[in-house]
Amino acid sequence: MDYPWLTKEQIDVQARRLLHAAFGAQARERRVNLEELVCDYLSERDRLSFDDECDIPTHNGHVVLGRTLPITGKIEIHRVLKQDGVDGRYRFTVAHELGHWTLHRPLFLASLGALDLFEHLSDDSVLVSLERSVFPDHRQPVAREEWQANRFAIALLLDPEYLREEFSLRFNDRPVARRDAPWNLRSSTLPEHSALLARAEINGHPPLCDVFGLSAEALAIGLRQHGFAVEEAGLI
Ligand SMILES: [Zn+2]
Repeated sequence: MDYPWLTKEQIDVQARRLLHAAFGAQARERRVNLEELVCDYLSERDRLSFDDECDIPTHNGHVVLGRTLPITGKIEIHRVLKQDGVDGRYRFTVAHELGHWTLHRPLFLASLGALDLFEHLSDDSVLVSLERSVFPDHRQPVAREEWQANRFAIALLLDPEYLREEFSLRFNDRPVARRDAPWNLRSSTLPEHSALLARAEINGHPPLCDVFGLSAEALAIGLRQHGFAVEEAGLI
């Protein structure tokens, strides 16, 4: 499958549209209710079959966290993610698969008429999400469709307006620079700095990552994307 280039804005709009379609225009919970989105809304609208108790085998030796089967209409999530303590990873992986469902499934459906049965059953019609693609470590390039699904996941789980409100409660609505006191001695890279902000309990408020139900690392990506965590104040 050839996955077309999409701009960040195009991906963000698709995530917002899905939220709006599922939950309407009213204020939502900060922590997006994925169960309602998947098991109520998408199972009804798209006949999505969702299984988060799957024992998914490795793929060429790599751990697979989730799979989207666009033609069968299925999303599978590895059952290890249902264990305690990895709720943020579970939620991010589900949102990542919803990215494939929203952005990439229509491509498969559009080409369905041109495929024969053999091709239906081939690897090409399963989107396999390796652990190293869903949670990349920046040392390896990520395939275009995986990058797109990750961008979608952040946009789905982290409403920029809610993030701004919650950030203001803790950090006074100003970007926090890694090189400024009191943060300047606590981290050596911007990703580390932004993860510290994501985990911090400030002014009696719970950590931002808990509010949105994300891992600190995923919340940190959102803080950098929206300019709340920066390297130097002078760059703001
Ligand atoms: Zn994927």
